Amino acid sequence: SHQRAAMLDALTSVREKLGRHFPLVIGGRKLDTQERITSTDPSLRTRIVGTTASASAEQAREAVAAAVQAMDAWHTSGAESRAKVLRKAAEIMRSRLMELSAIEVYECGKTWREATADVDEAIDFLEFYATGAIKLQRTRGADVPGEENRFEYLPRGVTAVIAPWNFPLAILCGMTSAAIAVGNTVVMKPAEQSSIIAGVFMEILEQAGLPAGVVNFLPGLGEVAGAALVEHPDVAAIIFTGSREVGLAINARAAETSRKSRVGVKRVIAEMGGKNAIIVDSDADLDEAVAGIVHSAFGFQGQKCSACSRAIVLSSVYDQLLARLVEATRSLPIGPSEEPSTAIGPVIDDESRERIERYIEIGKTEGRTLLATDVSQLVERGAFVGPHIFADVSPQARIAQEEIFGPVLAVIRAADLSEAIQIANSTDYALTGGIFSRSPHSLERARREMQVGNLYLNRAITGAMVGRQPFGGYKMSGIGSKAGGEEYLLQLVVPRTVTEHTVRRG
Ligand code: NAD
Repeated sequence: SHQRAAMLDALTSVREKLGRHFPLVIGGRKLDTQERITSTDPSLRTRIVGTTASASAEQAREAVAAAVQAMDAWHTSGAESRAKVLRKAAEIMRSRLMELSAIEVYECGKTWREATADVDEAIDFLEFYATGAIKLQRTRGADVPGEENRFEYLPRGVTAVIAPWNFPLAILCGMTSAAIAVGNTVVMKPAEQSSIIAGVFMEILEQAGLPAGVVNFLPGLGEVAGAALVEHPDVAAIIFTGSREVGLAINARAAETSRKSRVGVKRVIAEMGGKNAIIVDSDADLDEAVAGIVHSAFGFQGQKCSACSRAIVLSSVYDQLLARLVEATRSLPIGPSEEPSTAIGPVIDDESRERIERYIEIGKTEGRTLLATDVSQLVERGAFVGPHIFADVSPQARIAQEEIFGPVLAVIRAADLSEAIQIANSTDYALTGGIFSRSPHSLERARREMQVGNLYLNRAITGAMVGRQPFGGYKMSGIGSKAGGEEYLLQLVVPRTVTEHTVRRG
């Protein structure tokens, strides 16, 4: 079809131009470093997608200084003019949708569908937060005779944005655009594995007319560049999305270094992992349940914080569901992400592949191996891991408790709905969850009792749907903020009350 041709064209033209280098951007100046980060294609590890500079701790401090310098002018320019820049960036991204998606196919191993969804979401974030900041700026007064009260929101200040690789544009762009929409300035630290698409995003912000220093581009290692930002005395807020361990470490470090901070207690917004469950009730539509679980568990190879990694199935439908689950998963085509027919591409890199393979070995001892997909031929070329399903897994097993972040599903049997919900809640995380059931009573119980930030009734789990389904969890999954929701921007501002005595004198 026409779409398919356009997609193949975009892939070809991006592939022919791979290998660009992106320097740091600090206060509008391009700076290179001796150390470099190299991005390779996870579908074909010999293919270099590009390189970026890798910032030192000293350069991280320079980037913060540039962000401090840019603060006043950006804040006072007003929400409308800031929104204009964000909307312009959205327009540029929309016009380059195919190209940006193709870059994600090569850098992150996303299938075409997953890649375009990520770019679309990034565009939505830009527009949503641009509008949100304009709404927020309206001050509301509660006046009484002789007294006029005005409420306003000040930006928090310099904000460190520390991003993961799995939604390389949407999450990076969402966190960054929220911060700048309300007048903060940003130092942007992308994940090592997705630095190229981040570099392209930086160029788009510049093309959109973003003044120098408002966003500074700081690719680098987490423990070097990221850590230096977290500790910095002029960083007022840290917006982080990533793993639980790093999120907890950043929280602790930000608190420790707040005492020496020049801007007070550092605000940390952390979105972390998940160990998400879908419950299949005894009266569920099994076709829908199977389709929903397969989509939620194996989309982007299970590398989504929202991914379903546990299916909790009631005894009466257990054997039936297992058989169908295996059949549906087995039919998913595995291969390089640039192939239009591919449903399951590679995982992000070989380090990740090895971690997932270790969990698969653990799974073999903790459960009954229902499906073990052999991808040894593909592993010669790239970081492939086939889908794995383990049945009869105990709720406390490691593969039922730890975030694997790969195409591995644990199936757990439950005697009844009460037990199913209790098992679903028995993890440290509280991000997404779902239930397939025809019974209004069961759906109502899931609504009341399942401890998750995003609950899906009779449908597959998705990620953030900006404005419609604000996304985020609690417990070890995050601090309860909702990306793409009305309240999100409030975390990035400081509310202020101005009271004026208005009785006329003389
Ligand atoms: P990660 O925690 O390894 O890395 C995230 C970022 O933190 C990277 O930019 C990294 O360089 C940086 N970092 C690492 N150590 C640091 C340190 N000491 N100080 C400062 N920064 C540091 O996570 P990842 O592998 O990139 O992403 C996968 C994880 O992200 C999964 O756990 C997934 O569940 C989670 N995630 C959560 C959400 C959500 O909305 N809740 C969304 C996407 C991903």
